[in-house]
Amino acid sequence: MENTESQKPYKLASREYKKENTIVEIPNNRGQVIRVGGSRIVTIAGPCAVESREQMLEVAAAVAASGAVMLRGGAYKPRTSPYSFQGLGEEGLKYLKEAGDKYGLPVVTEIVDSSLIPIMEKYVDVYQIGARNMQNFELLKKVGMLGKPVILKRGLSATIEDFLMAAEYLLASGTEKVILCERGIRTFEKATRNTLDLSAIPVLRGLTHLPIIVDPSHAVGIRDKIPPMGLASVAGGADGIIVEVHCHPEKALSDGPQALYPQQFDKLMHDIEALAPVLGKSIAHIRLQPYALSKEKADKTNEKKADSILCAYSGNRGAYAEQAIARYFDSEDITEL
Ligand code: PEP
Ligand code: MN
Repeated sequence: MENTESQKPYKLASREYKKENTIVEIPNNRGQVIRVGGSRIVTIAGPCAVESREQMLEVAAAVAASGAVMLRGGAYKPRTSPYSFQGLGEEGLKYLKEAGDKYGLPVVTEIVDSSLIPIMEKYVDVYQIGARNMQNFELLKKVGMLGKPVILKRGLSATIEDFLMAAEYLLASGTEKVILCERGIRTFEKATRNTLDLSAIPVLRGLTHLPIIVDPSHAVGIRDKIPPMGLASVAGGADGIIVEVHCHPEKALSDGPQALYPQQFDKLMHDIEALAPVLGKSIAHIRLQPYALSKEKADKTNEKKADSILCAYSGNRGAYAEQAIARYFDSEDITEL
């Protein structure tokens, strides 16, 4: 029998509850807002785990140069073995935040237990709930109450309905800023780490208003097979991707075999850029260092933020040049001088 609206167990997450797509807004330290769920494709990149300050500064420089808009890195790692590297904890959060701030990249990191909230709160821009914790309902309730953006990863054996019920816990606890992340599910197939369920993108799109991103790294688990699946995710309608990148993957303390080299990530970004117009989309960008207006200009612009970017264009208002500027810098951020 067809699953009718009244039979759906999730409400706040449903398309019926909210018709238009939710756009999750994430501010950076340059006065810019990164929007997940709009017409811009967002890329989140970084290593599986934060390992050192040098590692984070090096990888942040690389992924920022290629066009990532957020930096990922785990400080508390949910490892299959208790003998594997468990993460640097608060020290790792500091390195992650320092590196993110240097390049205007908000940071994404996993929370594995609600007791860590007091430590994590000051460093984290976006909480990640990992696949293994997707149905940790007490954690979902506590993180939902914070009101901060959350990336919710699909559980290893979660159906789409289980996934949306987990999102419902976050929404019902008070946050509206939920981003769904397809990261592969367990099947009988052993050739890849998991099986990437790309059809989850259009299926979820029909069922929910929440933004959808894809993690091809944990889905596939094999470095060279990840870029095509990143591209396929975007082609399939994902609002963005989250990818593991490491400057020295052979020395990585976790998930080295699936970490892209920065050059591979750069190539993937170029490919996504070429694909985006086919989908009627463009790529989200981080602004270059804030451009300070002269004091005189800043006064004249009547308290407009001194860190705004000044763009001149030829032609009339509404002409292609202005449209191109509005497209490159989010139009919501544009004010007329
Ligand atoms: C991760 O992003 O590092 C991670 C552990 O992912 P997942 O929860 O999807 O396995
Ligand atoms: Mn990982």
